[in-house]
Amino acid sequence: MKPAILVIDMLNDFILEGAPLECSAGRKIIAPIKRLIEHARNKKIPVIFIADSHDPDDREFKIWPPHAVEKTKGSEVIDELKPQKDDIVVKKKTYDGFFRTNLEKILKSKKIDTLVLTGVCTDICILHTGSSATLLGYKVIVPRDCVAALTDEDHNFALKHLQNVLKSDVDSLDNILKKL
Ligand code: ZN
Repeated sequence: MKPAILVIDMLNDFILEGAPLECSAGRKIIAPIKRLIEHARNKKIPVIFIADSHDPDDREFKIWPPHAVEKTKGSEVIDELKPQKDDIVVKKKTYDGFFRTNLEKILKSKKIDTLVLTGVCTDICILHTGSSATLLGYKVIVPRDCVAALTDEDHNFALKHLQNVLKSDVDSLDNILKKL
């Protein structure tokens, strides 16, 4: 198994109090994600940040309030998880980290076959990125305490879908750390 950690949309505009697309549960997953990232760095497992980076008039803003506009403070990863020099940052414009990005190319160049998905929101960017990853043939692992959504209902639906339909390995961070 050759894993990489994906940290999805842990950006100021999703996580900070009063942010335009605030996912307050996202603040509870900062510490567990930090723990996972430290483990990954010790084991030389790549850490890849996937970050929304929208045009000011992005069509997504017909659905959601404007957020993570490119080059704004809101589109940056939160201070607590700031990418370090060996980390990779991939910018995306949709819910899917693979759609019109160089993510697959990066993963292929590193011979990655397994992705550990973390971040927000469980039912949006985690689910859509997890779906593409599965369809592309990657094994997907989701530590349930490292993902969060706007509501518990959305969170639980997405975890169930990842587990039952996409056959992802959904487990606690403690158990997943033992496998990495
Ligand atoms: Zn967005």
